[in-house]
Amino acid sequence: ADYMYVMKCSKDGEFTQGELSRFGNIQLSPSAGAIYEGTKAYRKENGKLHLFRPDHNAVRMQLGAERMLMPSPSVDQFVDAVKQTAFANKRWVPPSGKGSLYIRPLLMGSGPVLGLGPSREYTFIVYASPVGNYFKEGIAALNLYVEEEYVRAAPGGAGGVKSITNYAPVLKALSRAKSRGFSDVLYLDSVKKKYLEEASSCNVFVIKGRTISTPATNGTILEGITRKSVMEIASDQGYEVVEKAVHVDEVMDADEVFCTGTAVGVAPVGTITYQDKRVEYETGDESVCQKLRSVLVGIQTGLIEDTKGWVTCIN
Ligand code: PMP
Repeated sequence: ADYMYVMKCSKDGEFTQGELSRFGNIQLSPSAGAIYEGTKAYRKENGKLHLFRPDHNAVRMQLGAERMLMPSPSVDQFVDAVKQTAFANKRWVPPSGKGSLYIRPLLMGSGPVLGLGPSREYTFIVYASPVGNYFKEGIAALNLYVEEEYVRAAPGGAGGVKSITNYAPVLKALSRAKSRGFSDVLYLDSVKKKYLEEASSCNVFVIKGRTISTPATNGTILEGITRKSVMEIASDQGYEVVEKAVHVDEVMDADEVFCTGTAVGVAPVGTITYQDKRVEYETGDESVCQKLRSVLVGIQTGLIEDTKGWVTCIN
């Protein structure tokens, strides 16, 4: 049809008087997206820049695109776009140890479609923003709340895809938990509400003795690249690493719990609250979690030699 009505909402949440205009394209911020990725460029002490396993982000976007009926860039196109974006924004990459440049590749349907069906046009955008270290003043353990009302994803759904829509169900749970003083939410499976899934933007591990368990990726959790890397570091160090259904009782009985993700790296969990129980975990310098963290973050930031071939140089 000819006309559309557009009304904008101001930053303080007020809708002002809208207006009719000719139907046509509107300007959107690139941060309005569909499926996306997140990776970081780090600066080494010698000033050189590198990325951490960007080919894994490329493959994850391809798998997600396939689930969402979208075409996707090849691994080479993806990695090249990320490298070019990092290089072009190199003045924004913080000095070694002071943070990183967060890079967000985004794939969105950008063509006109009204019915339930895939878009006929797609746009791939890569943008970036400098971020400080997740832990500003020393590593602070996370305090997590086990959510029983809201679920993040259901079997057969698209919870394993890094789609913007997967973050919609968790916004309310996360903001409620934060207002009660927790750092994040632990989601349970949507069927039995007894098995651990993940936190809002990170994967979860539990340690008992020398066994490190993490929820198996069965399509309802995001397969984190940090998760995969930490599993490999932990088995190198002689731990038994198990992917399985992790019961919430096992979490409450663990020696240590930690989260992994591009944002947090490896983050120790200090307490978990489930129903009326609150459990405290080991998080000190001697904890397994801190040792795994120092290897992972060491490779990412260039402080430890990358014997795994995980780092891709940019310049
Ligand atoms: N789960 C969710 C829901 C996430 O958003 C993220 C962040 N991408 C992760 C886990 C961790 O994944 P990665 O280690 O690849 O950052």
